[in-house]
Amino acid sequence: LVVPSWHEFCQRIKTIFEKCKTVSTGKVATYIPQLARQDPNQWGVSICTVDGQRVSFGSARTPFCFQSVSKAFTYAIVASEIGADAVHSYVGQEPSGRLFNDICLDGSGKPHNPMVNSGAIIVSTLLKSGMDMADRFDHVLTEYKKLAGGEYIGFNNATFLSERDTADRNFALSYYMKEYECFPKGVTSVRDTLDFYFQLCSLETNCESASVMAATLANGGVCPLTGEKCLDNRPCRDVLSLMYSCGMYDYSGQFSFHVGLPAKSGVSGAMIVVVPNLMGICLWSPPLDKMGNTVRGVEFCKELIETFNFHNYDSL
Ligand code: GLU
Repeated sequence: LVVPSWHEFCQRIKTIFEKCKTVSTGKVATYIPQLARQDPNQWGVSICTVDGQRVSFGSARTPFCFQSVSKAFTYAIVASEIGADAVHSYVGQEPSGRLFNDICLDGSGKPHNPMVNSGAIIVSTLLKSGMDMADRFDHVLTEYKKLAGGEYIGFNNATFLSERDTADRNFALSYYMKEYECFPKGVTSVRDTLDFYFQLCSLETNCESASVMAATLANGGVCPLTGEKCLDNRPCRDVLSLMYSCGMYDYSGQFSFHVGLPAKSGVSGAMIVVVPNLMGICLWSPPLDKMGNTVRGVEFCKELIETFNFHNYDSL
């Protein structure tokens, strides 16, 4: 067992969970009604170890949308399918130092990295690019479910429709990238491209399922529940590197400094954290800080590092 004193571990996690529950700062995202309606009191934590031990507290089975957390999984899936080099001929690896939806490209005219909107939009066009929209959606759903060991992955159509209705920035960003020829050859419809990107943001999960997905990343791409090899080793390593440097919006540098773990968050208040070779964690609580990260989720990670030696450089 990778965590031998499981009962004691769970007790300590529960203590941290309870402590973070009392945090009442942050604001729920309001740019679409489906997010604005989220209950700020929701707070869920799930952990799945690489050998399949599991624990959850709070709202661990309440569905929420992946939003930007999908950027990490979609990238890992695409890189496994077409190879990291092919993906990175269209998108870089550098933190942008700009807002996640800023209209800007790097020095070689590519999106900075796959964790910002520009990069994620490009990456989504590389996912089974030869297939029609319906098959591509089916395919991504199947791949997400594999990562989750067959547990809950859904789709929130109301969120999708709202995202599409409030998409001026993403359209502006995409037309800008079209002008600068960032898209792979054959991608002609910005509308279809963005529909697929919004569908990825509108995929649903819950803490339990997403903790299994995070554990699959922690386990080098092998799902701890099914033993299925879902991702190649290199994309698995690569996505964790990108999460480490770019996963937490404009708090990414501070997060890797203080917490020292790869993580990705989204506007729904969702967040995954990976302790390589040990466990995947999913945290969900809708109130966000000024950077756009879940307040309770970030607080949980800081407490986690106070309690356990999980920071990347704790072993020194
Ligand atoms: N749907 C959002 C957008 O593309 C993603 C927000 C997020 O989670 O960062 O603007």
